[in-house]
Amino acid sequence: MTERIVIVGAGQAGAELAAALRAGGFAGSLTLLGAENAPPYQRPPLSKKYLLGEMSAERLWLRDPAFYRDQSITLRTGARVAAIDRGARRVLLADGEALPYDRLALTTGARPRALPAAIGGALSGVHGVRTLSDVDAMAPAFRPGARALIVGGGYIGLEAAAVAARLGLHVTLIEAAPRILGRVACAETAAWFRALHARHGVTVREGTALARLEGDPRVARAVLADGETLEIDLAIVGIGVDPETALAAQAGLTLDNGIAVDAFCATSDPAIFAAGDCASFPWRGRRIRLESVQNAIDQAKAAAAAMLGAPVAYDPTPWFWSDQYDVKLQIAGLNAGYDRVIERPGARAGAHSVWYFKGAALLAVDAMNDARAYMTAKRWLEAGVSPDPARIADAACDLRDAA
Ligand code: FAD
Repeated sequence: MTERIVIVGAGQAGAELAAALRAGGFAGSLTLLGAENAPPYQRPPLSKKYLLGEMSAERLWLRDPAFYRDQSITLRTGARVAAIDRGARRVLLADGEALPYDRLALTTGARPRALPAAIGGALSGVHGVRTLSDVDAMAPAFRPGARALIVGGGYIGLEAAAVAARLGLHVTLIEAAPRILGRVACAETAAWFRALHARHGVTVREGTALARLEGDPRVARAVLADGETLEIDLAIVGIGVDPETALAAQAGLTLDNGIAVDAFCATSDPAIFAAGDCASFPWRGRRIRLESVQNAIDQAKAAAAAMLGAPVAYDPTPWFWSDQYDVKLQIAGLNAGYDRVIERPGARAGAHSVWYFKGAALLAVDAMNDARAYMTAKRWLEAGVSPDPARIADAACDLRDAA
């Protein structure tokens, strides 16, 4: 009998998994179900070139729609799965249709945290930044002279601020925590980006919480926790995401900061796999969950290998990037647990890197317009090599001589 694999979630990981299953020789029936109406697309440009108006929607598609036809992958967009019936091995779509599977993969991504409606989160002119339709909805408000409030100083909020400033909006970014990038980067990298935004006229206010948004029906002002009021024309909310685990929870799969999978991407049900933003996995003695293109692609490939009967433990060297103005930030590694950082000016003007160490071990690098530092650090991290921190600190020392 032909084996049936169903993939729920037609994003970066789902599309990669489907392609990798076919490339690896899976000849059974393969269905990719996505709740959104668009074919699988890349999200990173949503807060960068696409929002700037420098990229068409078609260029976001991960693969030409013909690819799915040619590969006999049944791609169904606008198809939301409402429940998994593990006993009968079938998924139930929101419209009531039941679809049988022999093995199932969950690549359901993450859900952006929203501001509660009680504090104005549902007013028109208040936008999240997760989907193509989110960005299409906010684009008309990006007019020169408009006043934008960005809530949240993580990478998505900072990227949206950069685009808004470049398009001539007046931008205020508020961050409730004591500093921007608090969850993902050290104080030195945060200071570098704070200065970058200040040079572009963005007002960054840290330690500043939002009390509520007001307007009727469109947002017109923001009231801050200290009572101050800002008149605004739009608000963009970038306060993080939560893994999309609703289906897995309903199906009784083990959750642990996401859908818990083993090193081979299997969930607590051996017939169900998971990958991407929704999945947490064991990594060097602890359990982590990553929200990145690297992870979506590489974990999907690992899931495909396991589903094809050739399992390889997923042990990534994480990498990530962010574009703001003319700065490309590239991050290699994970900085969690660092006990010191070393800053290093790059060889080219404007290039800069920040190196995270735990004792003598290199954990990660943030490289700003410094591809050389990024590539070198990534190579070292992949090889398990740590450079001499004193040499990294010595700008006169060539990186090649630092390890
Ligand atoms: P997603 O791409 O989110 O796909 C999940 C899909 O599953 C969604 O389409 C969702 O609708 C669907 N789904 C969920 N539940 C159901 C259901 N019940 N039924 C059917 N379908 C369902 N990463 C980087 O590395 N670098 C960057 O610069 C970067 N920039 C980003 C900028 C933005 C604006 C955003 C939003 C993300 C960015 N990321 C970046 C993160 C990166 O895009 C994600 O990590 C990646 O898309 C995760 O892929 P995924 O397949 O796990 O999830």
